[in-house]
Amino acid sequence: MPKGLNRAALTAVGLVAFAGAASADELVMYCSVQQSWCEATAAAFTADTGVDVAMQRKDTGAALAQIRAEASNPQADVWWGGSGDAHIQAASEDLTEAYESPNIDQLQDWAIEQYETADHKTVGIYSGVLGWGYNTEFFDRMGLKPPLAWSDLENPDYEGEIQVANPNTSGTAYTALATLVQLYGEDEAFEFLKRIDDNISEYTQSGTAGIRAAALGETGIGIAFLHDVIQQAAAGFPVKAVAPSDGTGYEIGSMSIIANAPDPELAKQFYDWALTAKAQSRALEAGAYQIQANKAVAPPPEAPKLEDTKLIDYDFAKYGSAETRSHLLKRWDDEIGSQR
Ligand code: PLP
Repeated sequence: MPKGLNRAALTAVGLVAFAGAASADELVMYCSVQQSWCEATAAAFTADTGVDVAMQRKDTGAALAQIRAEASNPQADVWWGGSGDAHIQAASEDLTEAYESPNIDQLQDWAIEQYETADHKTVGIYSGVLGWGYNTEFFDRMGLKPPLAWSDLENPDYEGEIQVANPNTSGTAYTALATLVQLYGEDEAFEFLKRIDDNISEYTQSGTAGIRAAALGETGIGIAFLHDVIQQAAAGFPVKAVAPSDGTGYEIGSMSIIANAPDPELAKQFYDWALTAKAQSRALEAGAYQIQANKAVAPPPEAPKLEDTKLIDYDFAKYGSAETRSHLLKRWDDEIGSQR
């Protein structure tokens, strides 16, 4: 499909942010990190290469669903960001294409492991630890003790005070679901989710909605990636990050080239660029506190220290497989989502 049509179609539904002027050569990017980092990345690529970007921001699971729906007529070239499980599932469904970038050697081992797991159809670009943030003013005012372990979230004092996203749309929430299953076993994880259901005010669409609500004092606790909590704290909101003391999971945020992309050469140009230290070192300027995959980019000083965090040995191949991911999401719908 000609690029102009592609852009026009995306514009028509009002979902596209453009960096730079219109041109025949335009990269179409689906982006699953926070809006501000998506926009900054599109603008930086245009500034460095002169290539315009039509960017559409989508939560991780929603991006996967869109790419799957468009498989017979792909509309986008590259999918940048979002939790890696969904990228691995896309790879296993052949929705994304293998690519060997000359810049692969610049990456941390965990980013390359992600690339190997998916037969080179995705690659790690950042990582982040799962946990939650709580509103310190709310906790002080109510005289409540903050939750430090997953089991603390069952405290009846927190009734209606927790927000977490729906794991079908949100990579953050799927990481939480898969983490609990790996910590407790599947049946006990679902029992735990049922026990905390009264404390959950809302299963939001986007993984970052809960921590933004906690920052604004609209809820007490938002389950989130800690880099999202740190971003709110750095912006001056009264939130504090907690890495659960009984163990937690983490994500390898990923990037994939879409199979049969309208412009595979531009997709590769973006992919090579996105792996460079120059591109990744701009994350912090955009308020993104993830740990970047390029070895030359130092982790932000505010990022949680991995050595101080009790991380599970997250099985990305299993929890990103179509079989396990689809099974857990269906069970979540049947036992949690549909009970609302
Ligand atoms: N925002 C940030 C900063 C992320 O790191 C991620 C996941 O990688 C997301 C958003 C994904 O959002 P969602 O949970 O809505 O898929």
